[in-house]
Amino acid sequence: MYDIIGDIHGCYNEFKDLTEKLGYNWSEGYPIHPDGRKLAFVGDLTDRGPYSLKVIEIVYEIVKKGLAYYTPGNHCDKLYRYFLGRKVQETHGLETTVAELKALTKQQYALIRSKYMELYENAPLYLTLAEKKLVIAHAGIRSDYIGRTDKRVKTFVLYGDITGEKNPDGSPVRRDWAKNYTGKKSFIVYGHTPVKEARLINETINIDTGCVFGGKLTAFRYPEKETVSVSSQQPFVPEKFRSFDD
Ligand code: MN
Repeated sequence: MYDIIGDIHGCYNEFKDLTEKLGYNWSEGYPIHPDGRKLAFVGDLTDRGPYSLKVIEIVYEIVKKGLAYYTPGNHCDKLYRYFLGRKVQETHGLETTVAELKALTKQQYALIRSKYMELYENAPLYLTLAEKKLVIAHAGIRSDYIGRTDKRVKTFVLYGDITGEKNPDGSPVRRDWAKNYTGKKSFIVYGHTPVKEARLINETINIDTGCVFGGKLTAFRYPEKETVSVSSQQPFVPEKFRSFDD
């Protein structure tokens, strides 16, 4: 039994609230469910929100203890490249995580960097759980990509079904892959594109309800197939949410 958590983006308080609402106990300093339920993360732990490093710490801890599963998002991938010393633009939210890192001592920096590298390097491109009946991929996945881990699949699971074109606001054009998803064997849980309400269509669900933009933080319970949300403590930025005509 799993509780899959949408894009957190540094919203540590909301994450804690959500796990408590789901019945997890924090008396040990990290969330444990009395019935042995496991958490799973769709990625994008950091950037834009107030406590990115606290989110890394806790996810590292519970994944290491076998209490949770993690698969990276595009923001996770960028932070990894930043830690590798690659040239990445400190924009689109990475600047807030970098500001937190710059406030650390050298020792603290080295420690969080090594934890993050370990978490990321051990993470699969996407998670396949419940005998493949449940697949968790940051931006979603086509049914014919399940089982593959090549570059094309990596781009899809991190960025979605992008065309290479840009919208007038500069954001990348993304095709609505979920609307065309016909896979019957696997139920897909994903995030990446903020929506005001979790969007359930064709055995897929988008649970990025834009917490960092003042929406909600949402969990999807499997096998119950129920969503549980908590409200955000961040300011509401309505233009960041996408709507679909289903
Ligand atoms: Mn995101």
